[in-house]
Amino acid sequence: MNNSNNKDCSNFDLDSLIRENILKVDPYISARTEHDKEKNSIFLDANENSFGSPLSFLNSYNRYPDPLQKELKERISDLKNISPSKIFLGNGSDEIIDLIYRIFSRPEIDHAIIFPPTYGMYEVSGKIHGVDIIKISLTKEEYQLNLEKIEKSVNQQSKIIFICSPNNPTGNDIKRKNIENITKKFKGIVVLDEAYIDFSDQKSLSIEINKYPNLIILQTLSKSWGLAGLRIGIAIASESIIQWMNKIKHPYNISLHSQEIAIKALENRDLFFYHLKNILSERKYMKESLSKIPIIRKVYPSSANFLLVKVNFYSKNLYQYLMEKKIVVRDRSKIILCNNCLRITVGTHEENEYLIDQIKKYSKIKM
Ligand code: PMP
Repeated sequence: MNNSNNKDCSNFDLDSLIRENILKVDPYISARTEHDKEKNSIFLDANENSFGSPLSFLNSYNRYPDPLQKELKERISDLKNISPSKIFLGNGSDEIIDLIYRIFSRPEIDHAIIFPPTYGMYEVSGKIHGVDIIKISLTKEEYQLNLEKIEKSVNQQSKIIFICSPNNPTGNDIKRKNIENITKKFKGIVVLDEAYIDFSDQKSLSIEINKYPNLIILQTLSKSWGLAGLRIGIAIASESIIQWMNKIKHPYNISLHSQEIAIKALENRDLFFYHLKNILSERKYMKESLSKIPIIRKVYPSSANFLLVKVNFYSKNLYQYLMEKKIVVRDRSKIILCNNCLRITVGTHEENEYLIDQIKKYSKIKM
């Protein structure tokens, strides 16, 4: 791969990838960054309401939260066996995707490379930042990276490559060897989105983060941890990249409530594993049951908490039929390589049974 920043990994120069205006930013320093919150201090530094909030039973909400979320990062560090200094937390991974564009890409000059069909925000966020998106579709049926085409498309403007594994909406793992090869060769930033990694047999690449100074791994508490409402996304990367993210993020990007509840939730690993086990066995049940329905042409293999399902004709009609039955799934039929496909999240056993019954009924009407 040819790229202007032609250095090998051993002398990787991160600053050369950072946008010039970002290099010049003097970050906003909030009082709580400078002063570790000691319980007995008198806090007259941040124009908070010292008398408290109307939620008198939950008084600490009158205070700003820890801007660097130290305690929560410690817990995530224990969980993932990654140093807290290599962890950044965002208001969902979506905030982190936005920050990555802000730090590394120059509007109207640089471009990002994505591999459709994939998660939509890589493109939306890029366009918001005025960054051109180069699309190299995954291979047909197997949904793997097309290495030859990628090699040909990378040029001096290529700044960021987004890889999603397990991929949304196809559900499959991207071959590890190919992810590592691209990361080794590419001189820009590789973002590996592992939002669904806990549902996969494949191990996270996060344990190898020290090998790849240009790699940012995204994870989230929204999926396997069941905390989508809290909005907590995780980036794992070199300390230098994490420091840049800390410099340009909004000062208090994760609310006190989200930090506190996430800390509590992470203590309950037994329930996490119990839910995970249920999701995996329901995924198997759904795949087997859906595959037997005549109207269903294919249920793709999934390493995530959803299934990509191809129907024989007009997935849109099935989508609408299910809507009438008060079941909401995602119609992906307009997306490249997903003709007549629905993406269906694994539900509870009762929900899945009801879904399967309804699709069977629909199939009888149509066949
Ligand atoms: N990455 C992928 C691949 C996703 O599918 C999603 C959400 N559907 C996200 C990131 C966003 O996650 P978060 O809730 O952490 O913003």
